[in-house]
Amino acid sequence: MSDDIRASIGLRPVINVSGTMTSLGASIVVPEAIAAMSSILPQFVEINDLQRKASAVIARLTGAEAGFVTASCSAGISLAVAGAITGNNLLAIEKLPNVTPEKNEVLVQTGHVVSYGAPVDQAIRLAGAKAVLIGQATSTHRFHMENAITERTAAAVYVVSHHVVDYGLLNLKEFVEIAHAKGVPVIVDAASEYDLRVFLEQGADIALYSGHKFLGGPTSGIVAGKKELVRNAFLQNMGIGRGMKVGKESIFGAMAALEAWEMRDHTGIRERETGYLNLWKRMLDDRPGVTALIEPDPTKNPLDRLRVILKPEEAHITAWDLADALARGTPPIIVRDHEVEHQYFYLDPCNLHPGQEKIVASRLAEELDKAHASNEIIATPIEIRGKHRFDAVLRWPD
Ligand SMILES: *Cc1c(COP(=O)(O)O)cnc(C)c1O
Repeated sequence: MSDDIRASIGLRPVINVSGTMTSLGASIVVPEAIAAMSSILPQFVEINDLQRKASAVIARLTGAEAGFVTASCSAGISLAVAGAITGNNLLAIEKLPNVTPEKNEVLVQTGHVVSYGAPVDQAIRLAGAKAVLIGQATSTHRFHMENAITERTAAAVYVVSHHVVDYGLLNLKEFVEIAHAKGVPVIVDAASEYDLRVFLEQGADIALYSGHKFLGGPTSGIVAGKKELVRNAFLQNMGIGRGMKVGKESIFGAMAALEAWEMRDHTGIRERETGYLNLWKRMLDDRPGVTALIEPDPTKNPLDRLRVILKPEEAHITAWDLADALARGTPPIIVRDHEVEHQYFYLDPCNLHPGQEKIVASRLAEELDKAHASNEIIATPIEIRGKHRFDAVLRWPD
């Protein structure tokens, strides 16, 4: 790519086969959003009017009554929770994160308290709320939730993610039914989900999305839902939301990304991605100690990934050493390694520029050939890898 800016500022030309990761710059922003952002940047606008236009686009795509754009989905969690606590009381909005009287408890299933790069419960607590965990990591029953609702309960948060425990918990319909029976609004964190309608259809009062994940928009968050709750969240821009503000370019860019999403050739993209997966699978299939399986997305997004399973005794390398070798190489290739201690990682095809799939295939082949030819098994103890996980960031910026 001749127009690659990265070399000129001394950045490594990373290839992302890990998915939409904040640490790598999230996603490839669609041309429509890039054009929208540059067209509005030189102009003044009345921001609340621009957000009113965003509300109409969000409403049309999600089926919500209203919506707005904020800094991120994480900001959306804090703002939606804050709105549920303060209502439209402008003084209460200024007082956050202090809350009096204390109607600030927010229910969340223990199995949903994950990290998306920061803890879910912190986004809740930032709004002055108290996160009340219900159930255990792998079990929430109706009685847990019913008994946790008190006169102090302000909202309930439901997280949709491949990170959450995927069995033994309340599903969204049950969660909504129990919350609504006691007048508690339900906020759904659907940051990384394709389906912009289903959570509101299932009764969520607010659904939150990242603008910069599958939508391919600028870094932003989309808040969609019941008009009054959305307005109360929007009003937080005069309070805790100030530090989470978006500019005109992100609002307009997110609008353009949403409209482009409506027109996107989803089938064509899926076919292209399937082609990448098949290419990688063919290349891996008859290698010793390597198993490659095409697997559907765990939260049912229309996306498959390739699971690459290593038998270190035969492949002569562990899954994490292979992942690290790819990341160190030229060009650096970042795989999806959340579960790598189980000797597998995933290749995610959704953030590749055409042609990069071939580089991924040849780098994989190169590292596997090298390991196989080596007399010893490349096996860094996983604890050592874990121990050094934060070394680089703790040394930042040097
Ligand atoms: C990515 C993600 C977030 C955070 O989204 P941002 O828009 O990056 O703040 C929150 N929740 C889940 C489930 C996510 O996957």
